[in-house]
Amino acid sequence: MKKKIIVIGAGYAGVRTIERLANTKDTEILLFDIHPYHYMQTEVYDFIANETDLADITIDLFTFSAGFENVTFKKEEVIDIDADHKFIATSMQRYRYDYLVIAAGARTRFFDSIKGLKEYAYGIKSLHRALYFKQKFEFSLFKRIEEEGEYCDMLNIIIGGAGLSGVEIAAQMASFSREFYEKNSFLCRKLNIILIDAYEHILPGIDPLLREKSQKRLLDLEVTIKDNLKVVEVTKESVILSNGEVLPMDFMIFTGGIEASPLIARVSLQKDARGFLSVDRYLRAVGREDIYAIGDAAAIYRDGVALAPTADLAEQMGEVCAQNIKRSINGIALVEEKITSRGILIALGRGYASAKVFGLYMHGYGAFLFKKAIEYLYAYQLKRRAKKGFERIFK
Ligand SMILES: Cc1cc2nc3c(=O)[nH]c(=O)nc-3n(C[C@H](O)[C@H](O)[C@H](O)COP(=O)(O)OP(=O)(O)OC[C@H]3O[C@@H](n4cnc5c(N)ncnc54)[C@H](O)[C@@H]3O)c2cc1C
Repeated sequence: MKKKIIVIGAGYAGVRTIERLANTKDTEILLFDIHPYHYMQTEVYDFIANETDLADITIDLFTFSAGFENVTFKKEEVIDIDADHKFIATSMQRYRYDYLVIAAGARTRFFDSIKGLKEYAYGIKSLHRALYFKQKFEFSLFKRIEEEGEYCDMLNIIIGGAGLSGVEIAAQMASFSREFYEKNSFLCRKLNIILIDAYEHILPGIDPLLREKSQKRLLDLEVTIKDNLKVVEVTKESVILSNGEVLPMDFMIFTGGIEASPLIARVSLQKDARGFLSVDRYLRAVGREDIYAIGDAAAIYRDGVALAPTADLAEQMGEVCAQNIKRSINGIALVEEKITSRGILIALGRGYASAKVFGLYMHGYGAFLFKKAIEYLYAYQLKRRAKKGFERIFK
């Protein structure tokens, strides 16, 4: 009888699992996601700055799945997992599995302790929020042009959180706006981008040289960095910091923390203190032989410290997971995960990036081209698969 494999979540981890597992003999795979598209979050900085459009940063999951013989996509939210009886439940129905892969990712954590954060700040981990923010950013620039000759008010953009995503977004918006103003010699070009950093320096946990280069680039782009400060309250027009400072704000992006998806909070599987799924060395949920947890939804620890969640790690976890499911089906010993960061590429505005890949540093235009090449290759494979699925559906 065919083995039923269910994958929850079509992000970097889930999609990589599908690519490696599909077409395995005697298997039937169901892929579930709330959205009908795979969202390439790592490229959202370009999207917000109008360099790319929706079609560039998404892959259709119906056609992608149809590109394989044995994969079916279900646009349904998984609301529960019955691990003892091997079922998952969506609002539509229950589905039985032999193997389950939980790759439901994480979402922006809008801390309840920060008054007004949820109401007035944007996150960018979901596409609809990123799209809304992009439109607001563009409209704000337009409004300043409309008002020329009457006022020239400062446009204040606050970014809460100076990790990888906060730094990339700050650099890209600053660089985009600079070119935008210069292109048409606009008179009113008052833009104030402020990056709020809760730690001693930006990019905590990232290589010191990359941090230094990123900091310099941000300062060159006239981004103001405020270290050692926390956002304590957000109102419709201002952001209040832990030192009592009140910053005027036209809009704010919050990238200061993530939390596991609500499904993870509901399921009765072992989790770490932050609420992410605990896994054994084969990436199985602790105490379960038929459930794998991968990507941002799971936590891998080295010397007591959780590895920072990235797409790079999520993809590697997808590969190990697919390999172990195949081995388990064939009764072969499983492989242990040896996941480690293969490198880091930080986009810092148009034509500039800073990178450390397999121990080698790159900065400037070369690093930027390298990042673009990696993004292009990643999307190319998926789009090719989706095209095949499209042809299969319509032929
Ligand atoms: C702005 C930004 C820049 C980044 N830059 C980089 C970078 O340069 N390099 C890097 O390596 N990483 C980067 N990251 C991090 C990277 O995007 C994440 O680590 C990666 O997306 C994790 O992949 P994932 O598959 O675990 O989760 P996700 O990609 O978040 O996918 C999870 C999927 O699960 C679905 N889902 C959730 N709950 C359910 C449910 N109950 N039922 C059905 N489906 C569900 C979601 O809809 C989603 O499609 C960046 C992140 C951001 C926000």
